[in-house]
Amino acid sequence: ALKVAQNNTERATATNGLARVLAKQGLTTQAHEQYSILVNRYGSVIDESDLPFAYYALHQLLQFASHNQSELIIKDIETILARLKNGKIPLTEHTELLLQDVSNWFAEQNDKMPTTTKTIPRQINSIRELLSFVFQAGNSLKQYLSGRDDPITMPKVGGFDAIVGNSEPEPTLLLLNREPNNSDLVGFKVNLANLKNKVLAYAIKKNTSFDFEINILSRQQTAQMVNNPLTTIKELSPVMPLWRTWISPKDPKIIDRYISKRRRVYGIALIFLIAGMSLGVVLVLRDVSREQRLAELRTDFVSNVSHELKTPLTSIRMLAETMRLGRIKRKREVQEYLSMIVNESERLSRLINTVLDFSKIDQGKKQYDLQPTNISEVVTSVISVMENTIREKGFELKYDITPKVQTVADADALEQAVLNLLSNAIKYSRERKEIAVRLWREDESVYIQVADKGIGIPESEQKPIFEKFYRAHIGHKQATGGAGLGLTVVKHIVEAHDGKIELASKVGEGSRFTIILPQRDVDNGNVNRFR
Ligand code: ADP
Repeated sequence: ALKVAQNNTERATATNGLARVLAKQGLTTQAHEQYSILVNRYGSVIDESDLPFAYYALHQLLQFASHNQSELIIKDIETILARLKNGKIPLTEHTELLLQDVSNWFAEQNDKMPTTTKTIPRQINSIRELLSFVFQAGNSLKQYLSGRDDPITMPKVGGFDAIVGNSEPEPTLLLLNREPNNSDLVGFKVNLANLKNKVLAYAIKKNTSFDFEINILSRQQTAQMVNNPLTTIKELSPVMPLWRTWISPKDPKIIDRYISKRRRVYGIALIFLIAGMSLGVVLVLRDVSREQRLAELRTDFVSNVSHELKTPLTSIRMLAETMRLGRIKRKREVQEYLSMIVNESERLSRLINTVLDFSKIDQGKKQYDLQPTNISEVVTSVISVMENTIREKGFELKYDITPKVQTVADADALEQAVLNLLSNAIKYSRERKEIAVRLWREDESVYIQVADKGIGIPESEQKPIFEKFYRAHIGHKQATGGAGLGLTVVKHIVEAHDGKIELASKVGEGSRFTIILPQRDVDNGNVNRFR
């Protein structure tokens, strides 16, 4: 039969027959030789009942191997298994029966086997996995080929039709080509657990900041799940229409919590914003009202100054006119008129000096010439200049000047400051006309004090009167003229000497201004701190 065999099927059939005859005669070695040929040459050839010849061979080889652990026989068994695994020998519905035989045989032989054969159980497992895949895919494939799947709605993957076998937990994915000349067929098992844990969970974790539960479920399973409003169910892939990804936060209240946290943050931010804006509005309003007040003061100032300039000028002119007309005859009267003219001109020049001083100060141009100075002399000279005027106006003037008090100062400026205080004392006194000037030294400081028993200054105005153009309330204003600059100039002068000015005053009882200058040692013209 071998000699006349026309093709591989006939040759395999003949070899199989020969091997079987030899086996029946008990000629195991010769029979094995034939089966070896069958396995190695015609293993993948199929007989007319669709069985590969290798299956016959394997069945017989197992029989031989139960009596004789010939390495050659075992090697042939392994060869068949390896070829089943890598697809060289086809898998059929009978493969599983064969695998059972192999594992039964292996279980009996196990302890007597050479160590190299320990791979057999692993191979059996791999083949079983393949089998299960083939059967799943096979069913889908049969369905597909029977035309029950609508080819148009079938998903496509790179030109292949995709068919899914839906067995759990590992559905299969078959990609196949319907074109007549192309028989490409690719199959996958989809490991849902891996897909879920490694791919989806990872991708989602990267984008979310809270814990969630993720599942891949079939359509029926998702229907049975308990869902909360945040659960999201999406088709896993168009290629696998029956499978769903199911994602739900572990804490169903998570969004509420996020919202209330955000709300708190925004609430606080809003409060800060409103507070900031209100503060801004308050500051702007304050600024505006300050500017407004300053503008009003400035207007007052202009009318005050022009009035103050006009008054002495008018009197001077009137006095002088009267004298020119020769109406004043008596010598005593002439003297009186002349001294009135002198007084008015002094008042005029004081005002002009104050305004000029202020303008220098306001422009930052005022410069002080600080020299070792005998303060006692400065104060005494101011008093002697003013004494006449003071007494003429009916004031009682007391003074107590410690002699030889020295410090570093600008004599002219200081004179101006004391002069301003003195003229204020005169201007703002009514019935009680008493003025006291004191100069003394105490604890490294020089004190110059001008006190009156005049109208006094209300507590609320004791600070602003030092500001430019400021004049205390209307009652005073009407009574006496002024530019609202005297004290501003005093304050500036005192501060240029590193000193300060203090005020003690009570309405109706009088005011006491005290200039306090630091005592600086005056030694050979050098300026040093005292002691
Ligand atoms: P002026 O005297 O030209 O108005 P000042 O700057 O010298 O400007 O004084 C500011 C204000 O302070 C005065 O308008 C007055 O109301 C008040 N003042 C100053 N000195 C006295 C004082 N000795 N007694 C009462 N009020 C005073």
